[in-house]
Amino acid sequence: MNKKSLLYAIVALAMSMLVLSCQNKENASVAEPQTEVKEEVTTVETTTADTTVSEASKNGFVVVTDVVPDAILEIRYFSTFNFMGVRVDGYNAPIAYLTKEAADSLKAVSDDVKAMGYRLKIFDAYRPQCAVDHFVRWSQEASDTLMKRYFYPDIDKPRLFEEGYIAKKSRHTCGSTIDLTLFDMNTEKEVDMGSPFDWLGEESHPDYAGVTPEQHKNRMILRDAMVRHGFRGISTEWWHFVLKNEPYPDTYFTFPIE
Ligand SMILES: [Zn+2]
Repeated sequence: MNKKSLLYAIVALAMSMLVLSCQNKENASVAEPQTEVKEEVTTVETTTADTTVSEASKNGFVVVTDVVPDAILEIRYFSTFNFMGVRVDGYNAPIAYLTKEAADSLKAVSDDVKAMGYRLKIFDAYRPQCAVDHFVRWSQEASDTLMKRYFYPDIDKPRLFEEGYIAKKSRHTCGSTIDLTLFDMNTEKEVDMGSPFDWLGEESHPDYAGVTPEQHKNRMILRDAMVRHGFRGISTEWWHFVLKNEPYPDTYFTFPIE
């Protein structure tokens, strides 16, 4: 090899090393942000979960099934089988939170009805404010009537808000209110209450005259058991009960369910 060839060889080698080092840098610079993003997501998830747990426990909330293990859960707003037809904001897990006071009273109800051959089946309990905001936004979208035939066939959607079926605040957000029914352990079915949960219409009024005596009796078995242990019902929904001595009657919580 002459001097000129040697020089070319050295220059070629130097250039290829330079290219290689640039490629490495490129790879490195691509890899770094990916790692960063991954870490960021993990951090956010961890932080959110921690926040929920601490927000819930800091305010004396408990996971209902920890206190009432016999309860059956069917958290409708976590699923799409509800009057909106989509999962509701703030429902990130199919679990139920209540204040400790409400959960303890519910345990007494559960033991009471269990002796009669029933279990409690829970549809909703604590409801974060963002979920209520989601209901309100939905009620203002007149064209979205996806679940009308199942939940409000006889009411024009704009009237749901005007007539109080949807409101800007819900007692559920205060953490001591629950929606539930009875599950019959002999027939292995929900008891017949004469109208489904979240049926938006007068058929859901506990004292509605159009239900059969059997359906009325079932409504009263649930209501009497709830009342015996410190809850009160309302005149419009057979499934909805509020703890009379609720610890946070004026606090509307925001932490999500997860
Ligand atoms: Zn309710």
